[in-house]
Amino acid sequence: MKCPNCKLGRMYPAVPHKNFPESGLQCDVCHGSGILPEYFNYLPEEGKILKENRISRNVLLRDEAHRIGVCARRLSCMERGYFKKGGES
Ligand SMILES: [Zn+2]
Repeated sequence: MKCPNCKLGRMYPAVPHKNFPESGLQCDVCHGSGILPEYFNYLPEEGKILKENRISRNVLLRDEAHRIGVCARRLSCMERGYFKKGGES
């Protein structure tokens, strides 16, 4: 399936930002391919629940990532709905 995180592998800000290149940034989910990698399950609702749960506990992303033993980048992906198939080891 097409990567829901980007446009053809590039990410653009919702609001134009001076520190953001006009050509966009390479998507950190599909790494620029524009196709959602096979090893991801896209579960936006679960990601949303995860994020809301963390925020309700007033925990920072990196602290929560440390607590569950993943890197912050990984948790950020999960909160946007990208879960690796076969668990998050
Ligand atoms: Zn992408």
